[in-house]
Amino acid sequence: MGPVEYRKRQPGPVRTRDRWLAGLVLLGAAGVFGVLAVRHPVGLIPACPTAAHLGFYCPGCGSLRASHHLLNARPAEGWRHNPLLIVVGLPLGVWFAASLCAMAAFGKRLHAPIRGSVWAWAALAVILVYTAARNLPGEAFERLRPPEPAQSDPP
Ligand SMILES: [Zn+2]
Repeated sequence: MGPVEYRKRQPGPVRTRDRWLAGLVLLGAAGVFGVLAVRHPVGLIPACPTAAHLGFYCPGCGSLRASHHLLNARPAEGWRHNPLLIVVGLPLGVWFAASLCAMAAFGKRLHAPIRGSVWAWAALAVILVYTAARNLPGEAFERLRPPEPAQSDPP
């Protein structure tokens, strides 16, 4: 391993500006999740434009409602609105929040839990297959689709 490769693998120092930026992102996320914890997003936030205007469910459809239910300790309801959010988004979100905390509070960068283009392609494949499956007709795929907002339980 040469010196250039070694430098690439080591997390560099975090600049003061980046520490502040990480803190601001954390504060913004805390605000969004704070609102989502107390308010059901239906009626508060417009419906996903992909579903509303293009007529198909994107991989994120139902994520806000799923987040609302997760924040209120209802994982089954969260799963009902977006299973991918729980399987993939939740662990990545926790890692991202921890990474931002490490940057903001300690000026340290965390190593990414997964690295390399193979993982990126695998993640893209999972997202594409999930998106296709939740838009296929039939009962078998019904559980991948979020309930219509009108049928979604308000707070
Ligand atoms: Zn969507």
